[in-house]
Amino acid sequence: MNISVIGVGYVGLVTAAMLAKLNHNVICIDINKEKVDKINNKESPLYEPGLNELLQEVVGKNLKASTDLKDAILNTEISFISVDTPSRKEGEIYTYSLKKVSEQIGNVLKEKKDYHLIVLKSTVIPGTTEDIVIPIVEENSGKKVIKDFGIIMSPEFLREGSALQDSLNPDRIVIGVKDNDKKSLEILKSIYKNFNCPILETNLEEAEMIKYASNTFLATKLSFINEIGNICKKLSVNTNTVAKGMGLDKRIGPHFLKAGIGFGGSCFPKDLNALIYKATELGFNPRLLRATLEVNKEQPFRIIELMDKHNTLKNKKVGILGLTFKGETDDIRESSALEVIKALLLEDVELFIHDPVAMHKVKTIFPHLNYKDKAQEVVDSSDLVLILSEWPEFTKLDYKDKLVIDGKNVFGNGDKKPKNYEGICW
Ligand code: NAD
Repeated sequence: MNISVIGVGYVGLVTAAMLAKLNHNVICIDINKEKVDKINNKESPLYEPGLNELLQEVVGKNLKASTDLKDAILNTEISFISVDTPSRKEGEIYTYSLKKVSEQIGNVLKEKKDYHLIVLKSTVIPGTTEDIVIPIVEENSGKKVIKDFGIIMSPEFLREGSALQDSLNPDRIVIGVKDNDKKSLEILKSIYKNFNCPILETNLEEAEMIKYASNTFLATKLSFINEIGNICKKLSVNTNTVAKGMGLDKRIGPHFLKAGIGFGGSCFPKDLNALIYKATELGFNPRLLRATLEVNKEQPFRIIELMDKHNTLKNKKVGILGLTFKGETDDIRESSALEVIKALLLEDVELFIHDPVAMHKVKTIFPHLNYKDKAQEVVDSSDLVLILSEWPEFTKLDYKDKLVIDGKNVFGNGDKKPKNYEGICW
């Protein structure tokens, strides 16, 4: 099938590469020309394991990138929309990119004779597809949804750091359709026909809400284990063992029970804020969701408290390993590591910093820190080291006798820990 993917960030580029791997002809569309040029040069504009290798295979064969949305819509049968839906100041999602793309697609559909299916993958508050996307496309195209073009809301569940794997082997695929629109449903299902996972058919609003309910649940599970971890730390109980014991219970499960410096990334905080905003607008106070955010906001500062306990907040050289919100990604959006850095900049300390893939991004925010090309150089330059994102290479360094405070449990419960080691919640 000929498919366009509009907005090639973490979701769009991975989706496009996955579809090309499944032998579809894919055109990636983005307004960022630098990204487009990089993709056409077989180079990923973002770090995601396996993505560069896959682009080497498919670019020039059945995947190309472009800024020409009109040409892409005219020459494809399906368009996936994966533009950003960031938070506004009060928490509400900002739908500017989505509105713009809907308007552009509508304008092209006015000229297009053939049926076109639009698949929305961006995370949007329930009601957005029905109340914003469909009216804009209809108004600009002069056409009617279901009769002249199709629309599906199919939220994305991939995790950065294993996005390609997740996209090729999802736990489930959710397909939200309008008014039982069989034609659109069958077209999208044909793309996933060889996937070995449940396909859940819902209406548009259910699909939109499944994404928010899933993300806010996972975030709540993390704030829960961080709260248990903070209590365990005061009791001198190892949270990791407690989490293991909990996770063996099938009703609880082992995932998202890893205590640490708090969650970040472009999704959990944004989606919590958006759902809290919407609930409040509807006259409901979502207390649990608010508490999830509150626990998370405070969590990075537990590491500063630990430093204080060790009297290491004065005239010290502090090493920072890891800047991203988790390992195996270059995404620094809402990273707790940046909160720790901001707090340390108010103290009398000198910072030495390393991240395997994201230093260039952090340099644009904090240009005057001591960035080191190698993790070991950070250890060698510092009096103590903070581990703020999980990269396996951080377990292989020679920490000598230096105090290491681990905010991400990179060492697990194993016995290869540095001599002078303390975990944030264990
Ligand atoms: P991103 O910011 O990495 O990428 C968005 C891309 O859209 C950018 O490259 C931007 O230039 C492009 N864009 C914006 N306006 C455009 C336009 N008018 N025409 C063409 N391109 C345009 O965002 P992301 O992290 O990939 O997230 C995309 C959506 O998917 C969001 O709604 C997000 O909540 C959701 N989501 C993200 C993840 C994740 O792990 N990042 C996972 C699941 C769902």
